[in-house]
Amino acid sequence: MHSSVTVTGIEGLPLIQKGDDLPQLISERCALENGDIICIASTIISKAKGYSRSLCDVSPGQQATHIASVTGEDPRFLQVVLDQACDVLVETPFTLTELPFGHVGVRSGVDASNVEDGLVIVLPPDPMKEAKEVRESLLRITGKECGVIVTDTCGRSFRRGQTGHAIGWSGMTAIRDFRGDTDLFGRTLEITEEAVIDEISGFANLIMGESNNGIPAVHFRGIPKWTGHDNIYFRPEEDIIRKALKKM
Ligand code: GDP
Ligand code: MN
Ligand code: MN
Ligand code: MN
Repeated sequence: MHSSVTVTGIEGLPLIQKGDDLPQLISERCALENGDIICIASTIISKAKGYSRSLCDVSPGQQATHIASVTGEDPRFLQVVLDQACDVLVETPFTLTELPFGHVGVRSGVDASNVEDGLVIVLPPDPMKEAKEVRESLLRITGKECGVIVTDTCGRSFRRGQTGHAIGWSGMTAIRDFRGDTDLFGRTLEITEEAVIDEISGFANLIMGESNNGIPAVHFRGIPKWTGHDNIYFRPEEDIIRKALKKM
């Protein structure tokens, strides 16, 4: 088992425009090996695919206007947030929504940072597909089998401060399943599942930064393979936090 991991920000990527070939741009800037993992900020996936909205084209409806009257946000921004959502869990003091691909996030992950004025970036509607596409393209270009994680910076419940989270992944499972393993004293672990993709995304986010670093992709070498499953999102019936919110 390795215990050393190399983490490298991929430098020199341009400001991404719609139509840019991210796998090509990434593979030109880092020498991939089998088993490497590449984390990519969802922001640049959305830029490359054109998942953005121009606020001057948005007319806010009643719900967006109501939320805006409480929070002081731009009602057009909130309309974009609501347009992405399949469920609104909290309206104020911040809007917490579920997206059709399963992620629950503040303001639907709609982002006005690192983008031209008047534009907002929305999350890719199917980040699993985006991760798979990048992984397959990297394999085609380089001949190397890598894992790919699409990340976004998110808040957490119960704790202050944002961290990187995985919203799409390919070439790995989301969860490392320790159930059935034994601990140092030979006892069988019954409930320990580790959200490995979020741990990796958290470190990637540290290297990316939030502002003007210009590092939207991070390369990992030396992470041992793991096995597990992909059910990272609670089903509504097992999600006690969501149930509690819905009762409010
Ligand atoms: P998010 O976490 O997916 O919302 O992405 P952020 O907006 O926090 O950006 C993450 C990192 O990518 C930061 O270092 C940004 O400076 C950088 N970044 C964002 N857009 C671009 C881009 O178009 N080109 C480059 N080179 N870096 C970018
Ligand atoms: Mn951002
Ligand atoms: Mn974001
Ligand atoms: Mn970020």
